[in-house]
Amino acid sequence: PVYGRDGNPTWAALEEVLGALEGGRALAFASGMAAVSAVLETLPIPGRVVVPGDAYNGTRRFLSDVASRGRLRFRTVDVSDTAATLRVCAEMCDTPGRPSGPEGGFGTGGLLWLESPTNPLLSVADLPALCEGAHALGMDVVVDNTFASPLLQRPLALGADAVVHSATKILSGHSDVVMGAVVTARPDLAGLLERRRSLHGA
Ligand SMILES: *Cc1c(COP(=O)(O)O)cnc(C)c1O
Repeated sequence: PVYGRDGNPTWAALEEVLGALEGGRALAFASGMAAVSAVLETLPIPGRVVVPGDAYNGTRRFLSDVASRGRLRFRTVDVSDTAATLRVCAEMCDTPGRPSGPEGGFGTGGLLWLESPTNPLLSVADLPALCEGAHALGMDVVVDNTFASPLLQRPLALGADAVVHSATKILSGHSDVVMGAVVTARPDLAGLLERRRSLHGA
């Protein structure tokens, strides 16, 4: 990159380590919410999202905000109940109004947003079963891995399309930094996010 907002050696050093830990290509963001919103903003309009009812409150407030402007619809689930979560996913996929976007493009078939354990209620999701079930419905899956960290859980290896972090929390660990990241092994999504990060300045 020729300009610091597009990438720079300081970010690259962090991204190399985090990418190795999670098993994909990492992109650093200015905060966890910058990472969360960058991923959700890549969805075709109107996006369809299934999200834990006890997901991080910033994530839920972001979803309510964009939903109120017609950019997506979302439904909340208890992610500790795999069958009920996949039932809601199936209903979401059945609703008319499939957004236009490249066939197989990220989120075109809907998005299952997972967080496990959830902040702050610590609900635990069966990631392999939910990733497999959502993929069978044509949905993509993102896991907010903030609370587990890659030392305890590697969602990409369990089937997730992308991992999101608030690096403000466990990853940095000393309450002295605000930072976020997305990690994915999908080159299409990494490209979308890298472009978004440059354009939105996050
Ligand atoms: C804190 C947190 C976020 C948001 O991260 P910030 O760095 O505060 O913007 C997102 N997800 C989870 C699970 C969090 O705990």
